Formats: sequence, C-alpha cells, structure tokens
Amino acid sequence: SCGICVTKCPFDAIEIINLPGELAESPAHRYGENAFGLYGLPAPQEGRVTGVLGPNGIGKSTAVRVLAGEITPNLGRHREEPSWEAVLDEYRGTALQDYLEDLRGGKLDVARKPQYVDRIPDQFDGRTIDLLSGVDERDAVDEVTERLGIAGVVDQDIDTLSGGELQRVALAAALVRDADFYFIDEITPYLDIGQRVTAARLIRELAEEEDRSMMVIEHDLAILDLVADTVHVTYGEPGAFGVVTTPKSTRNGINEYLDGYLEAENMRIRQSAIRFEEHAPRQGSHGETLVEYPALTKSYGEGEFTLEVEPGEIRHNEVLGIVGPNGIGKSTFAELLTGRLEPTDGEVDTRLDIAYKPQYIEIDQPMRVDAFLASITDDFGSSYWNTEIAGPLQLERIMEQQLTDLSGGERQRVAIAACLSKDADLYLLDEPSAFLDVEQRVQATTAIRRYTENNDATAMVIDHDIYMIDLLADRLQVFDGTPAERGHAGQPVGMREGMNEFLANLDITFRRDQNTGRPRINKPGSQLDRKQKKQGEYYYAP
Ligand code: ADP
Ligand code: ADP
Ligand code: MG
Repeated sequence: SCGICVTKCPFDAIEIINLPGELAESPAHRYGENAFGLYGLPAPQEGRVTGVLGPNGIGKSTAVRVLAGEITPNLGRHREEPSWEAVLDEYRGTALQDYLEDLRGGKLDVARKPQYVDRIPDQFDGRTIDLLSGVDERDAVDEVTERLGIAGVVDQDIDTLSGGELQRVALAAALVRDADFYFIDEITPYLDIGQRVTAARLIRELAEEEDRSMMVIEHDLAILDLVADTVHVTYGEPGAFGVVTTPKSTRNGINEYLDGYLEAENMRIRQSAIRFEEHAPRQGSHGETLVEYPALTKSYGEGEFTLEVEPGEIRHNEVLGIVGPNGIGKSTFAELLTGRLEPTDGEVDTRLDIAYKPQYIEIDQPMRVDAFLASITDDFGSSYWNTEIAGPLQLERIMEQQLTDLSGGERQRVAIAACLSKDADLYLLDEPSAFLDVEQRVQATTAIRRYTENNDATAMVIDHDIYMIDLLADRLQVFDGTPAERGHAGQPVGMREGMNEFLANLDITFRRDQNTGRPRINKPGSQLDRKQKKQGEYYYAP
C-alpha cells in the first residue's frame, strides 16, 4: 500500500485509470484512524439547487453535515481538535471560501432534512402540528403542508404516521424554516411519483422565486434531473473514501455518472455504462396463464378503504410492473394474492406458491446474513447462487454482518435475495428500489429479470422509480382512485398503454435524452409536453 488509501488500494477497488489527484491531498474530513475519508466538498450556490449524486456509503451525508455546520471538518488530522482557522486557511481561494467564512461567523441560517426519517418519532413526541409550528419561521406551514398533501395528518401524533407521511413532514419541517441554505438529504424514499414531483417543484420554486439556496442528495434520476441546476458527482470506494467532483451541468453529471466516465476528471468510475436502451416498450410476454383472478373487492372496516380489482391474469414467466400512488391498495392486492388477506367479494386461487418481499422489511433476528440466507435455501453458496443472486446484489461484503446492523440499502438487498432464493411460482416484490443507490437499482433489476428468465419464474414488482419499472417490466398494472378512500386496480396491459394511463393520471410527460436515451421529465406546458399530451404519448414518445 502506498499509504494514501485507507483500507484498500483504489486501483483494485474500483477501475480508476489514474489516481484521483484529491487523494494525494488531505481529505476534508476523516472519521478516524483507518476510517472513512471524504475528499472535496460540494459547494452550495446562492439561489440555485445543487444536486449530489453518487453511491451509498461514499460520504454524501457527511458532506452535507459538514456544510450544515454539524461536523467541524478535521482535514484528516483526526487526532487533533478540529480547528476552523485551519479549515478557512485550507479553503481560501476556493468556491467554498465565502460560504465557510459565513458559516463560521454565524452569519448563515441553515436547515437540514435528515436522511433517515424513521428516527424522527424517537426524537420527537407529540402532534405533527406541534413539531411543524415550532420551526415555522416563514409562516408557511399551511401552504407547505397543503402542497405536500399532509394537511390532513397534522393533528395526528408523529408516531402514527406512515413512512411517506413522515418523509413529507420532515421535508416540510426543513422548508418552513427561514434559512439561507437548505440541505435535503434525499427527497424520495417512501414517496410515490406524484409526491416526488410535487416535492421537487416546491424545492425549485423556493430557489427560483425566493432566491433560497438548496442542496439535494437524490438517487431517483428523473427527480434529480427535474430539481437540480448543477450536480456534484461523488465516487470512490464506499466505506473507505469518497471524492466530490466540481459541479457539472445536471444533464452532463447524470449522463457521465451513468456512463461510468467523468470527463473533466478523466476518471473511469465504473467498468461498464448503465444504459437506458431506447427500446420500444416490451410487447408483453406471450406465456401461458399462471394465475387468473376474477373481479375482487376488499374493504377495511366500515367504509375505511375499499379496493376494487378488475379481473385479470398473470402470465407465466413475465415481470409485471405495478404502479400507482401511495395508499391506493397495491400492498392490499399483493396480500390478497398471497392469501394473507381475504377478499370481501370474489375468490383468489391461493394454491400458488408465492415468495413475498414486503415494503417494510422485517428481518431483525440477531443472526448473521450468511446464516439467515443459508436457512432459506440449500443453494446458498453454490456457484449458481453466487452468480445469480449474491453477485448482482453485492452481498459478499456483508455476509458476516448481523442483520440488525445493516443499513437501509443493505437490508433491502438481503430481503430481495431472501425472496428470490425461495422456491416459488410467483415472486412478489414490494418497492425493491427503496434505499438503493442508482447502481444497486440497476443490479437488483438485472438480478430480478435474469432470475425470472433463467428459472422459468414469474415476478410482480411494485415500485415508484420509473426508470426501474421501465427496465424491469414486461407489462404494467395501473392503480388509480383516491388514496386512503377508494382504489381501483386495472387489468395488466402492455407497457405503452400502461405508462400512458399512469402518467396521464399524473399529467407528466417524458422525453428522451439525445445522448443516452435516458427518460427526462418535460417541463409542464413546454412545446414537447403539449405535443406529447396531444398525441397521447406520455413516455415512449416516437
Ligand atoms: P452516504 O451519505 O454517501 O451514504 P455517509 O456520509 O453516510 O455516506 O457515510 C460515509 C462513510 O462514513 C460510511 O462508511 C459510514 O459508515 C461512515 N460514517 C458515517 N458517519 C460516521 C461516524 N460518525 N463515524 C464513523 N464513520 C462514519
Ligand atoms: P399502497 O400499497 O398502494 O400504498 P395499501 O394497500 O397499503 O396501499 O393501503 C391502502 C389503504 O388501506 C390505506 O389507506 C391504508 O391505510 C389502508 N389499510 C391498509 N391496511 C389496513 C388495515 N389492516 N386496516 C385498515 N386499513 C388499512
Ligand atoms: Mg447518506
């Protein structure tokens, strides 16, 4: 080892064609001896939305906590007391000089939305409105909660909220502050597409109309593309070191990241590119019918929520994508198929063997990952299992960890592996993209598709990441209705028809990036937006 790197030489850790120059210099922050080091920092820009894009464990949250004034960076001298004088010296003459001076001088008001919203109920006891009123420096609680669709839950206790409600409450709690700089550590976990777009537009408006400065970390590329003016890409070796690039235009930053090659840095960060084939929508599999179900209804309690399901069939060997807003009955439908729930009207053939990965993952036994997975399948550790499941889901590195110590993304990958490792007729995955970074999403997608193709299996995947659904699904089932009141599940249809139906409900059209074929959300009312709506082509525009 040359002594620069912390745990592993980056030459074999990632395909870096030249050593990042930053690694020869001192990091902005290192957590300790042989601990994670962060090289470079993103620079917030006044009145703009600055995006941060990169893998999990690469230091994005660390960077944001430094800029929010919660961590005093130690410049790698972790044995000494960190000193602001040294930091200001180090950043003199850089894009961050003014920002850090003002931060140090107490001249900046900053607000941060933390990454893990699940922890909020442990930190705050009481009603939602009390939490929000306590930080409502802009007198904007009514407007922001209305916009985000959480006005109806503000009188509830914080600990009764669902993940999606908690995420929006956390976002509202940051955005109602009267800050100069806002740091949003991930917008989209637990949110449906409509909620994601609304949140992104709210953030943009605050920047454009009120000249507020925003920094946003985000893995949903369609949303990052919509919200950010510029993007800092982060790369390195997760858990060991991370490097933050200088800002790129959002389009280039995302394209270079997907491509795996950073042009200005002359740096290959991944061996192969992530491609969004501009494929015509899949025509749907022509397999035989695996299961047919009649019209179904399911009501909870006295008029609390009713789901109506149109009769339909799931075909052998297909991947059926399921899309629709939160609270519309998707999980209810899944549980009707598994037999966990009884329909109110109609009957489901529950002879089918179904492997189910629920949305909220319950794997909390005090057990190692390898022991847990070995308890599920005899194939565990076989070369076949390693190639098909452990490899693409990046499980090797976490096999010896305890289930209880896993991060959100690690837990998700173990849960997907556990589901696919079961012997079943139908694999039903509820929100597999949650907590995964872009690369992990693509790899999980590949694992699910390959697994179904090679094992003559059938999968149903509920997800809110439109890129993932496009890469994954043969056909789509669209849910609509009024969340928490009435849900309607359509028949499974082809991708084009399904995307059009789904996106028309949301009033969103996509165009294709000219270089990469990556889908991008059109500006509402733009020429393309109007043209595509007129043609009724919301996603697979010619
Ligand atoms: P990201 O937000 O990109 O997922 P983080 O900034 O959360 O990454 O973490 C980067 C690395 O730093 C991870 O390996 C994480 O385990 C480590 N880390 C985070 N916080 C601490 C801490 N307080 N002490 C030691 N290591 C930490
Ligand atoms: P989705 O998966 O589309 O987010 P769900 O099927 O989880 O939707 O929930 C649909 C609606 O049914 C929500 O309003 C939810 O609160 C309600 N619901 C879910 N399970 C129950 C239950 N066991 N009792 C009463 N209401 C429920
Ligand atoms: Mg983070």
